[in-house]
Amino acid sequence: MIVSHQKSMDEILAALANDGKIFLIGCAKCATVCKAGGEEEVWQMQEALIAAGKDVTGSVIIDEACHMLRSGRDLRAKKEMVDEADALLVLACGAGIQSVSASTPKKTVAGLNTLFLGNIRRFGQFEQKCSLCGECILTETGCICPVTVCPKGLLNGPCGGMDNGRCETDNERECVWFQIFERLRSRGALEKLKKIVPQKDFSRMLKPGNLKLEKETAR
Ligand code: SF4
Ligand code: SF4
Repeated sequence: MIVSHQKSMDEILAALANDGKIFLIGCAKCATVCKAGGEEEVWQMQEALIAAGKDVTGSVIIDEACHMLRSGRDLRAKKEMVDEADALLVLACGAGIQSVSASTPKKTVAGLNTLFLGNIRRFGQFEQKCSLCGECILTETGCICPVTVCPKGLLNGPCGGMDNGRCETDNERECVWFQIFERLRSRGALEKLKKIVPQKDFSRMLKPGNLKLEKETAR
């Protein structure tokens, strides 16, 4: 899921300094799980905006704010409240905010900072395990990602600084290649370490971002 957290109220109010009437938007998926932009947070934001002297014309929790058709549909369903507002405040990830903004000519304000693609350890605890490199090598590494977790992103074994299984950049951390070795050994798959993983094609990470995936079943 996409991990995000709310911007400070000071930053949000500064962005809305010239706007008296606000329409609020949350997202029922990742932003809800992060407790950054679900029903409860939209309600709390409404209270905070009213306390700051703003009018809230209404709100909506979009099922998936990143879904452009749904964003447009849900905003149309609340057209009167949206039209009445001076600005829309969106509590969703960067993709969701852009979906919303593309669906309306209204001023749109980002209420969240989008952080990373995260695994949920337990309620409210998220960990970055994948950095979306576009060329997954987990099959070769016992499903532990060195691209993301090794500070040097090394693809073929540890650097010379590994110290007794600890990472040279931070002795509190276990070297990810030590973890990979132990994982492969426990699964009887150490022969995988003989395979050289080729250099990654980082062109997928170049800016401007223009990656697209289109399937025939797209709705
Ligand atoms: S190699 Fe790592 S960063 Fe790349 S797709 Fe796989 S898990 Fe994600
Ligand atoms: S010690 Fe291991 S985790 Fe740390 S930088 Fe070197 S290879 Fe990466």
